[in-house]
Amino acid sequence: MDKPAICGGEPVRDAKIFYGHQYIDDADIQAVVEVLKSDTITCGPKITELEEKLCRITGAKYAVVCSNGTAALHMACMAAGVSEGDEVITTPITFAASANCALYCGAKPVFADINEETYNIDPEMVGKLINSRTKAVVAVDYTGQSAQLDELLDHCRENNLVLIEDGAHVIGTRYKGKCNGSIADMTTLSFHPVKTVTSGEGGAVLTNSEEYYEKLLLYRTHGITKDVAKMENEPDGPWYYEQTTLGMNYRMTDIQAALLISQLDKLPLFIKRRKEIVRTYNEAFSKLPQIIVQKEIPESDTTRHLYILRLNLSKLTIDRRQFFEALAAENICCNVHYIPTYYFPYYQRLGYEKGLCPKAEKLYEEIISLPLYYAMTDKDVQDVICAVTKIANYYGTKQKG
Ligand SMILES: *Cc1c(COP(=O)(O)O)cnc(C)c1O
Repeated sequence: MDKPAICGGEPVRDAKIFYGHQYIDDADIQAVVEVLKSDTITCGPKITELEEKLCRITGAKYAVVCSNGTAALHMACMAAGVSEGDEVITTPITFAASANCALYCGAKPVFADINEETYNIDPEMVGKLINSRTKAVVAVDYTGQSAQLDELLDHCRENNLVLIEDGAHVIGTRYKGKCNGSIADMTTLSFHPVKTVTSGEGGAVLTNSEEYYEKLLLYRTHGITKDVAKMENEPDGPWYYEQTTLGMNYRMTDIQAALLISQLDKLPLFIKRRKEIVRTYNEAFSKLPQIIVQKEIPESDTTRHLYILRLNLSKLTIDRRQFFEALAAENICCNVHYIPTYYFPYYQRLGYEKGLCPKAEKLYEEIISLPLYYAMTDKDVQDVICAVTKIANYYGTKQKG
């Protein structure tokens, strides 16, 4: 019943294309092999080299790389002092980790609705949710477009809150001329293979604050320090190290760091190609009344991690699921980013109810993430446009007159 046929003719392409894919070249492989042949495969020189490189690229003073973006969020919340009884405001249109990090610290995630045109957290909604229990705001740069950082920082400064930017999508983007990563109190990155650059698994926290930096170093490695200057007791001997707080093991290996260092050499190429593809998509889809193109704020010079196709359902005879399945029948294999976090059974059991963020919920009904990655050929991009256009026209409501 709800399974649409391919809307006429053969699929636009024979081989399946997916919404994201890493790009690994010989230089990446060589970099990893060199570390594997070296003496140090973790806690070694590649970690420092990578952290320095991330600082150079983003303009942040300090970088602490770690095992993944979720670990980065957890450490950032801990460094911000988020704990039992606190509230952390975030968006529901994100990966679950943006809210889970508050729960790890015993705090309560509070969901602020999005701006209906940019799809990012609405600073005005954030303002309305701030109270004496609020400790931090976790703002996501959804799709790679910067959140409205200045407005969010105003709220945070006024209320003594910490602004954590979940920048899993944001590498390569600039906000008002400055690189994201050098603006919020802390910015977290993810290097999962679908993100713009990858280390297999990996993450980082960027900050300009020495205080946060020192805390992050401890949380990354069990709360243990080997630095005599930071110890509470006199060392017993040269072997002595000391645990001064409770931390985790969230370390990245030098193998992963070497891969990411090599990937970052290609970042300008990745940015250029992503911007090209987005421009081509926008141009094609702005001609289709069945499609709503995501609004870009002038403050953000955006490198997209995701391209969101938003359906204008009033101009279509099918829903999002049917459109998604019709794309799959054309061998365009998409995804949906994201299911509102509080829809999940775990969050429902915590007492969150549907209806909390109406704009986010409406967006969720209308979106599909199209393929967007560096290695897409021009033909791939045209195939996607061709399939979307074909389905939109085939299932478009007939214009009167
Ligand atoms: C990918 C992602 C994360 C989590 O990163 P991992 O490295 O997979 O742990 C967090 N937030 C957002 C918005 C993401 O897209």
